[in-house]
Amino acid sequence: MRASDCKAELSRGAKFPDKPADPLMVHPDIRRMLLTAKSLIEGNRMLIAWVSRSLDFAAHSEDTKVRQDADDFVQLMTPVVKAFITDCAQECTSASMQVLGGYGYIQDYGLEQYVRDARITPIYEGTNGVQALDLVGRKLPLGNGRLLQQFFSPVGDFLATHAKNPDAAEFVEPLAQAFERLQNATIVIATKAPSNHDEAGAAATDYLTLFGYTALGYLWARAALLAQEKLKAGDDRFYRSKVQTARFYMTKILPRTSGLLATLTAGAEPLMSIADEAFGPFD
Ligand SMILES: Cc1cc2nc3c(=O)[nH]c(=O)nc-3n(C[C@H](O)[C@H](O)[C@H](O)COP(=O)(O)OP(=O)(O)OC[C@H]3O[C@@H](n4cnc5c(N)ncnc54)[C@H](O)[C@@H]3O)c2cc1C
Repeated sequence: MRASDCKAELSRGAKFPDKPADPLMVHPDIRRMLLTAKSLIEGNRMLIAWVSRSLDFAAHSEDTKVRQDADDFVQLMTPVVKAFITDCAQECTSASMQVLGGYGYIQDYGLEQYVRDARITPIYEGTNGVQALDLVGRKLPLGNGRLLQQFFSPVGDFLATHAKNPDAAEFVEPLAQAFERLQNATIVIATKAPSNHDEAGAAATDYLTLFGYTALGYLWARAALLAQEKLKAGDDRFYRSKVQTARFYMTKILPRTSGLLATLTAGAEPLMSIADEAFGPFD
């Protein structure tokens, strides 16, 4: 079947028959791609703002403890910010190109330039694989997990504060599940990695990515509760969009943490047991 026939067969007729064509926005798959990009980009901007604010505290606070805590947080989050966000950039630019189909691929509309520009970012200033090793091999063990507490404490406090708030449940419950997966992944790494470098290397990228999604889950939950509060004063397109995007993130993106915990737990054996010759050539 030709692609155009398939398109016609699967379409349930025009939604706007009075217009020359339906806009792309009527299609759920287009909305999936746009919302994926929107939720990851806005979520990552929140993450950048959070870590940047801590950089200021680390450099300028007059309180020694505030400076130390902020510095611990920045050290912990630097590989996450560098690698998770640049990995997301691949997905967001590629999905955005896909939204425009063939028009996205050709040079005339400028999207392919974004895809090419984004592609270098996981490579320079230390590849993302090496950033993940930095997180797992250096940042996690530092001070017996002292750095990690700078992330785990605020998330744990937030979950405890809102555990019984029914208005928050649709955001807090998925976050609690993702956070539990991150804690379980941390235990897996703390158990296996110190005695086996391959286990640390095999887990590193899954762990960093799980960390990134959980961080965005926390920030989206906070943003959604704040936006809900603002909406009590009257409807507002900006805040309504924030609540709806948070809802998309919690239901359509954050469950990826489940798969990441599974692949992380599968360990190094499926990677390291295959002989180099198995990659070919075979003639
Ligand atoms: C356009 C461009 C601009 C650049 N600008 C600058 C600049 O201004 N200043 C500067 O200092 N550098 C710059 N670089 C260099 C950049 O920092 C390096 O390309 C980058 O750090 C990756 O190093 P590499 O190319 O040697 O790759 P490699 O280190 O050979 O990595 C190849 C692959 O192996 C993996 N790998 C390597 N070592 C390990 C390990 N120990 N454990 C697990 N996996 C590993 C990597 O993750 C990667 O997937 C630039 C590079 C490019 C392409």
